[in-house]
Amino acid sequence: MNKRTLLVPEQVWTDGETHRGWCVLVGGDRIAAAGPRQSIGDVSDCEVVALSGCTLLPGLMDLHSHLFLHPYNETSWDDQVLRESEAYRTALAVAHAEATLMAGFTTLRDLGTEGAGYADVSLKRAIDDGIVKGPRLFVAGRAIVATGAYGPMRRNYRTDCCFPQGALEASGVGEIVRAVRIEAAHGADWIKLYGDYRVGPNGETRPTFSQEELNAAVATAHDLGRPVAVHAMTDEAMQRAARAGVQTIEHGYAGSRETFALMRENDVAFLPTLTVSEALSEYFVPGESHPTESMQMAERGFRNALAEGVTIGCGSDVGPYPHGENVRELIWMARLGMSPAEVLLAATAVNARILGKKNELGSIKAAHLADLIVVEGSPPEDLSSLKNVRWVMKGGVRF
Ligand SMILES: [Zn+2]
Repeated sequence: MNKRTLLVPEQVWTDGETHRGWCVLVGGDRIAAAGPRQSIGDVSDCEVVALSGCTLLPGLMDLHSHLFLHPYNETSWDDQVLRESEAYRTALAVAHAEATLMAGFTTLRDLGTEGAGYADVSLKRAIDDGIVKGPRLFVAGRAIVATGAYGPMRRNYRTDCCFPQGALEASGVGEIVRAVRIEAAHGADWIKLYGDYRVGPNGETRPTFSQEELNAAVATAHDLGRPVAVHAMTDEAMQRAARAGVQTIEHGYAGSRETFALMRENDVAFLPTLTVSEALSEYFVPGESHPTESMQMAERGFRNALAEGVTIGCGSDVGPYPHGENVRELIWMARLGMSPAEVLLAATAVNARILGKKNELGSIKAAHLADLIVVEGSPPEDLSSLKNVRWVMKGGVRF
């Protein structure tokens, strides 16, 4: 039997509150107790770990990642999909997963391998088996897109060649139902749909799936016990997704107050992905010193969501920017109007609720999984101290 561990930090932050003088007792893969030292009981058999000057927090979560992508200023998205083998991309993803864990992110929802098939399902298995280091993964396999709506865009290539696509194509109720079943059968924990994409005559973002198609996909996913995440940039696609009863909407840059109100009423959570907008703006508009149009849109959408009181989780769309820098998203959320405590809550307890895991993840409480991070300084007062992660514990194992 493993020895129990008593962690004695300067303070514990969990569920929106800072507790000075709290200790946390870990036994096996779970938290056995958390509270003032005298409340913990007999600890004579424990290894005691003193963590002076440090804050203990629940492991952070990022609910929108792409472990199988790397920054587009290194290799364009098209070239990653067309010129990098699945084996090479998996090798990269192993390194990305370790960098993410060591940065304090103990859980990721990875929303699509972008042309790397179901390698995410296997990566998750290798992490769970302890073969490689990485966060707990909730994976989506291949995203589902409307026929011709995704990349590599056929208009940019020879038309006599048949290029692999970055996601699974479907048209009509029959095909989208089939696509959802295929993803679930291959091990997808979540179903990821693209509600809109750059399909307009001049590459404008337009809704892709019809209301009928989305309704059918969601009904099928729910029959299979899988929640649904929808990429939606336009107000129309967001509304269709919200009416279809999806669980999360990603990006939402052009979301109106009315649409966020609809999301609130239908209990749809929002993942703002502010950092990817910043990263892509840097890559495509070098030297730009003021926020680009897309960043201003992302900010407007975020502020509308805040004003309407939608459930806002933390999801950054990491991959297009470097893995392990996920904390940039938290800093963006604070810059655009959330308090540090609200941001920390979004990245822990709120994200756990979105995943349907609030009884196991996201809080420092007895019986929860021991996913913890030790940070030098006090993140509830200064989020940038999250960059100083001393060590990470996942399921009671220290990394
Ligand atoms: Zn994404």
